[in-house]
Amino acid sequence: MDKKYDIAIIGTGLGGLICGYILSRKGYKVALLEKNPQIGGCLQTFKRFGVKFDTGMHYIGSLQEGQILHKLFNFLHILDDVKVSPLDKNGYDVISLAGQRYKYASGYEAFMEALSCSFPNNRRDIEDYVARVRQIAASSPLYNMRNISTHTFIDADYIKTSVNEFIASVTTNPVLGNVLAGNLPLYAGVKDKTPTYIHALINNFYIQSAYRIVGGSDAIANSLAKSIRSFGGEIFTNCEVKSCICDDNKAIALNLTNGERVEADSFISNIHPHKMLSMIDSRLIRKAYRDRINALENTISNFTVYIKFKENTTPYLNYNYYFYEEGDVWRANNYDAEKYPQSYLYMHQCHKENPQYAQSAELIGYMRFDEVRQWTDTTVGSRGEDYKAFKEMKAQQLLSKLEESFPGINTAIEGYETSSPLTYRDYTATQDGSMYGIIRDKNFPTQTLVSQRTKIPNLFMTGQNINSHGILGVTIGAAITCAEFLGLNEIINEIDKY
Ligand SMILES: Cc1cc2nc3c(=O)[nH]c(=O)nc-3n(C[C@H](O)[C@H](O)[C@H](O)COP(=O)(O)OP(=O)(O)OC[C@H]3O[C@@H](n4cnc5c(N)ncnc54)[C@H](O)[C@@H]3O)c2cc1C
Repeated sequence: MDKKYDIAIIGTGLGGLICGYILSRKGYKVALLEKNPQIGGCLQTFKRFGVKFDTGMHYIGSLQEGQILHKLFNFLHILDDVKVSPLDKNGYDVISLAGQRYKYASGYEAFMEALSCSFPNNRRDIEDYVARVRQIAASSPLYNMRNISTHTFIDADYIKTSVNEFIASVTTNPVLGNVLAGNLPLYAGVKDKTPTYIHALINNFYIQSAYRIVGGSDAIANSLAKSIRSFGGEIFTNCEVKSCICDDNKAIALNLTNGERVEADSFISNIHPHKMLSMIDSRLIRKAYRDRINALENTISNFTVYIKFKENTTPYLNYNYYFYEEGDVWRANNYDAEKYPQSYLYMHQCHKENPQYAQSAELIGYMRFDEVRQWTDTTVGSRGEDYKAFKEMKAQQLLSKLEESFPGINTAIEGYETSSPLTYRDYTATQDGSMYGIIRDKNFPTQTLVSQRTKIPNLFMTGQNINSHGILGVTIGAAITCAEFLGLNEIINEIDKY
């Protein structure tokens, strides 16, 4: 490893890779350091039973020409390397609520029409909902690649209002209200906390168009890595950063667990801010800042069953199935462990474009870290027999609940693997295996926003904990981080050419 760089990036999650891409393309000498053997963070995949499974990127939106992710993927030169398959336009998400199914259809008109079929007396409410979601998304210059003259990225009203308050202002029909919030596992929504803009930006993103990635989300990471290398950037795997060394004014080097030291003029952390601060022992990080970041609450984690089907047994389900046993979707986050699971998300994986049969699926339920806390000091592969028994019990609970919605599905299963909050904690180093990092809270809007700037002038942050999570939130967040080097409007103008 060359030991001196312009910019050293800690972590190769989506945020780190996009920063690596943008900055190396601009001529910076960049090094990315990844603790795992595989790059990508949540874009990592793994193989079991001869099938590749995604771990944290299942479907993406707004990929039609002219839509925002198309523009961003074009700018990132990803379009040629990542194959996608459109989800069912008549219902890309199906919300199963207390035994009834409701569809989200692709395109604003189709979305309104499909829901109005289920709620004919609430057509006006549904139209109002779509109009307001569109208006919120349109009001963000960053999400529309418009030049920014102020630092207002989104209208304050939508930061200070919760999703449930917003939905209640749209409709008084409680069933429709729950259906409109039905895909909240996409952002681990918390009642009276999650700000409206998160829901609106995500739903606007998927309503426009929705796709599965064909053959695994690692294609995104691999494409970005290929470009970074072609621009002269370097990526090092099995390189865990242990500490960040500072002099009196700034960060100067990173110490790795393998004993190596990497120097750079600037540093970008793509890891959880809490974890990053734990690596810095410097008076530049004041106690008040450290305490504030460490006190921030994180989104819930999950328990996933990765399913391999027997060949040609299971017709490919071209939609995502959000299941709620009862009518209140907001209780999912606060589930009763005794009655596990009261909700889940079920998705088939797409191994080729428009397959007739599914090879594999993922069945995801929320899980609080508390449920696995007793194994907190264990590591991957050696957590003991009681942990294995716990995982088997949870998998069986999820699979029997799935059987109620899809009778016969269990007989089609050839094998399955599971992951828990500990798995995510140990692979991506997120706090308590949190799915999407720090919770944004409409009651404390500024306190729960983490800036890309730190108290160390040449150390910046990126990834899902700044701006927002998901393919769009992290990509925009990476642009915000890179703006510290290049200027935000310069980046926006460059992206807008695509
Ligand atoms: C179960 C699940 C499903 C999801 N589904 C979707 C979806 O369908 N669509 C969507 O848009 N988004 C989805 N997301 C969200 C999305 O995957 C994430 O928001 C995004 O990928 C996070 O990227 P990141 O840049 O913050 O980095 P991360 O993915 O968190 O990566 C951080 C990287 O840093 C590395 N690292 C940590 N510590 C160190 C260290 N000390 N030294 C070196 N390297 C280190 C880690 O190994 C990791 O590679 C999902 C997330 C989860 C968990």
